Amino acid sequence: MAGDQAARRELASTARVRLADSLAHVLGDRFVPEPGTKPDYYGDGIVVSGFGLLERCPRRAVFPPDDYVDSVATARRRVGLLALRRLGDDASDARDVATAVDEVLADAADWPVQLRRWVDELDRAGRAALAAATITWCTSVLRLVGRDPRIRWADPSRSTRWNVPDRLVQLTATHEAQMGGVVQGERVLVVADGVGGPADRIRAGYVALVRAVGTQHAPVRVTLAAPSRGELTQVAVDADLLDLAVDRVTEHVAHRADPDRSPVVPGRWCVHCHLLQDCAEGLARVGAASVPPEGR
Ligand code: SF4
Repeated sequence: MAGDQAARRELASTARVRLADSLAHVLGDRFVPEPGTKPDYYGDGIVVSGFGLLERCPRRAVFPPDDYVDSVATARRRVGLLALRRLGDDASDARDVATAVDEVLADAADWPVQLRRWVDELDRAGRAALAAATITWCTSVLRLVGRDPRIRWADPSRSTRWNVPDRLVQLTATHEAQMGGVVQGERVLVVADGVGGPADRIRAGYVALVRAVGTQHAPVRVTLAAPSRGELTQVAVDADLLDLAVDRVTEHVAHRADPDRSPVVPGRWCVHCHLLQDCAEGLARVGAASVPPEGR
């Protein structure tokens, strides 16, 4: 076991050095904090999230929509985690998911402020829709992973953050649960209902990387749970996985540092892109470029 721990420390250390070197290569002397000032990562720097890394078109990742509003689809995970944390307090607790969700919705005092405000504005039908979606989310996740007292469900108001030393670059990642500790070896659970395939390794690798550099120990593995497909995919954390994540982060940061030079990758996703009307490649992809302007 001691050898395993040493290996996981080595993996984390190597990834940390490689990430710092790769970012130095693409950023040079840019995005370096002013000595003696508190770094403002959101205002002056680059904050990397798993969401941005998984975006297939770099231009869209660099210029994300700024009109985010909560919805049942986005809120159900956070409310669901609060409910699962209640269930997780006592493995012998026979309380069912619906009861836990009702309890959580009735007691919003400790919720993240933005989520609480959004739920407060829901009418009765909206709250019922949120409760139903949350119960479905929780039960489908539990069906996959089981109800195990060793599972520690994540606090939805927190994410894992790591500030790259001497850079205005911050990595943030979220996960849904973990088992084991840093020293014994973490097993991290990520609920990801998107399309499987290569994105799965990027998603798993990024979460593993952020936890590895933050705790100075690589997790043992990341398990991806896809409730709608009924699939659990276990991804072992090794040097290849962390290298993949470092490469992806570096590529993403390079695009963010030079946003106007970020490339476009048209695809079927263009039809939903908020940049479509100003993107010739996207318009060509969806066929709108061939439509004559009005009046002709
Ligand atoms: S329209 Fe398509 S190619 Fe253009 S920015 Fe959006 S996703 Fe990228």
